[in-house]
Amino acid sequence: MSSLPPPPRFAYVHVPFCRHRCGYCDFTLVAGRDDLIDRYLTAVGRELERCPVPLDLDTLYLGGGTPSHLGPEGLERLFAVLHERLRPVAGAEVSAEANPLDVTPDLVAALRRCGVTRVSLGGQSLDAATLRALDRDHGPDDVRRAVDLLLPAGFTVSLDLMTAAPGQSLAAVEADLAAAVTLGVQHVSVYCLTWEKGTAFESQRAKGLLRPVDDPVERAMFEVAIDWLEAAGFEHYEVSNFAKPKGRCRHNEAYWDCRPWEAFGPGAARFDGRTRTTNHRSTTTWMNKVLVGADFTGDVDAMTAEDAARERIVVGLRRRAGIARTAFRAASGFDLDALIAGPLHHWIDAGLTTDDGDCIRLTREGLLVSDALWAEVLNPARP
Ligand code: SF4
Repeated sequence: MSSLPPPPRFAYVHVPFCRHRCGYCDFTLVAGRDDLIDRYLTAVGRELERCPVPLDLDTLYLGGGTPSHLGPEGLERLFAVLHERLRPVAGAEVSAEANPLDVTPDLVAALRRCGVTRVSLGGQSLDAATLRALDRDHGPDDVRRAVDLLLPAGFTVSLDLMTAAPGQSLAAVEADLAAAVTLGVQHVSVYCLTWEKGTAFESQRAKGLLRPVDDPVERAMFEVAIDWLEAAGFEHYEVSNFAKPKGRCRHNEAYWDCRPWEAFGPGAARFDGRTRTTNHRSTTTWMNKVLVGADFTGDVDAMTAEDAARERIVVGLRRRAGIARTAFRAASGFDLDALIAGPLHHWIDAGLTTDDGDCIRLTREGLLVSDALWAEVLNPARP
């Protein structure tokens, strides 16, 4: 007799609105289209009807776009819709991404009324020149003001920092880190700028108007980020993420544990343990299809058990704790060495991985080149 898997306890909601599209951003969003917010809220309510019964959640994450762009009233309307089917349990982590410019006393009060516990602030930098180079619409003082409103109100605050911005020097990254560690936030995510196809930055790069930071400098930026944040008491717990004690993002940890999660909104991807289903990426197409009852699926990635196990290796190795062979076998049904014996020997010989017999972990050198390793795990040479 087969039994149904337990319902997911983690959910993501995509809020696709921003004031303006930053030059490097290829996320699913509409900029300057606040006229669509009412239809979006109706469509989210309609998509939530996929859940036959309300879900009890350990984490709920609102990403975007910029959820804070909805403003205090819009956020309360969104949460009223969400709470019909998404019910964070007592002690749940409820996160919302925010643009520093949107963080006002009224927004902070609304976030509290909505049950938000954690705010992920898209600060990116505390240097005016870097923020201008990144085409951001806020300044360093907006970041400081937002943190000073959020921390006393009891939120866990995560700050996004970006490195390798056009024209950014290593010294500027160090100055950013020095400023960031004085803010008192409990979590920092550090991302290196990526040049995505179709973005304004990429087309300016193609015309020679913008120039990426050289690879060795980019690596050095990541290394100083690790050094500064660890020295300031942050635990480096995943390639891009650093947390003070109890400051880890539980929602992201659920992703990295390959737990099933739900996801709603344009471009949102849900995962049932084997299949990743992504909603249509266009905000207007997703809305129109949801509202007329049409199929709004964009993409379905149905993995074999082995594919899912290989994905588990990638997300596991991104975590500083690494992968324990026994836990991996219990969770995936596969023997770690049977899947990656070849690459693993090579990584150990090259000093990219350590192996204590049970647990394998990336070394610092391995972390710096980790993106180049994943193809060997995900696309093994078939005999
Ligand atoms: S604020 Fe964030 S989501 Fe919005 S355009 Fe800029 S980078 Fe993209």
